[in-house]
Amino acid sequence: MLKFAYHTHSIFCDGKNSLKEMVLAALEKGLTHYGFSSHAPVPFENGFAIRKEQTQAYLQQCRKLKEEYKNRIRLYTSMEFDYITGIVEDAAERAKGYNLDYVIASVHSVSAEINGERAMWFIDGGKQDVYDEGLERVFGGDIRKGVEAFFSQTCDMIRNVQPDIVAHLDKIKMHNRNRYFHEDDKWYEDLVMQTLEVISKSPKTVIEVNTRGLYKGRADDYFPSRKWLKHIRKMNIPITISTDCHNVTEIDNLFAETWQMLSALGFKHIWYYEDEWKKYKIK
Ligand SMILES: [Zn+2]
Ligand SMILES: [Zn+2]
Repeated sequence: MLKFAYHTHSIFCDGKNSLKEMVLAALEKGLTHYGFSSHAPVPFENGFAIRKEQTQAYLQQCRKLKEEYKNRIRLYTSMEFDYITGIVEDAAERAKGYNLDYVIASVHSVSAEINGERAMWFIDGGKQDVYDEGLERVFGGDIRKGVEAFFSQTCDMIRNVQPDIVAHLDKIKMHNRNRYFHEDDKWYEDLVMQTLEVISKSPKTVIEVNTRGLYKGRADDYFPSRKWLKHIRKMNIPITISTDCHNVTEIDNLFAETWQMLSALGFKHIWYYEDEWKKYKIK
C-alpha cells in the first residue's frame, strides 16, 4: 500500500496545525507523498479560507518546506478552490497564477439568484441547522431544486475548471441524513449519474474517496457513497483517497480501511500524484 494525502488543511485556513506540524505528522505516519491544499481565498468575509493578503506567505512556506524535506517526502503545493456560481468561478486561472502542482475544486455553497442578488446555501460545516436554514432561505425549502442546483453547479465546475481532484462529490447528502431525500430516489440517482458522465469526459480529473464524513461521524458513508463508487469503477473513472485532514491526528484517518474497501469493490488501481497522475495497481 502507498500512503499519501493530497487534500489537507492547515492554520492558513480552517485547519488546526501549521504546515510544518502537518509534514512532521505525515512523516511519522509513513506517508511518501503529501500535498498542501488550504482553502483558496474567496471574495467575501469568511472564517475558513486563506486570507487574500496571506496567499503569498502560504505559497512561500509550502515551497520552503518542499525544499527542506525533499529527501524524506514528496511535498506538493495546491489549494482547494470553492466554485460558487456567479461569485467565484475562476479557479483555473488563479491556480495558474499561483503556479500550483495540482488543483482541487469543490462546491460547499450552492448559489441562486434572489431578487437580482446572489444568495448562498452553505451545505458543509458541522451544523445541520445551517443546512436547513439555507435550504429554506435560498430554495424555499424545495430540496429537489437545491440538489439539482448543487449537481448542475458541480458539472459547471468540472467543465470550467477541469480540476485534478473533484472533492467530496456528494457532500450534499451529509446533513440530509435521509430526511429530505434518499440516495435511491430516481431523480437523485439521475443527477449523480449525469455528474459522473461529465467527470468521465474531463481528461485529467480524478474523483477522491473522501473519508472525513465517516471519521467525523457526520455521514454514514464515504463521499462518494459506495453505491456510486460501483458505477465509478464500471465507468473507469480514476480515483484516489483523501482524508481532508484538518489537524495532525486526521492525516491517515480510515486510509487503510478505504484502500481495502476499494479493493473489495473490485477496483484495480488507485491513483496517486507524483508530478503527474499515476496509477498504483492494487489487485
Ligand atoms: Zn471541501
Ligand atoms: Zn477540504
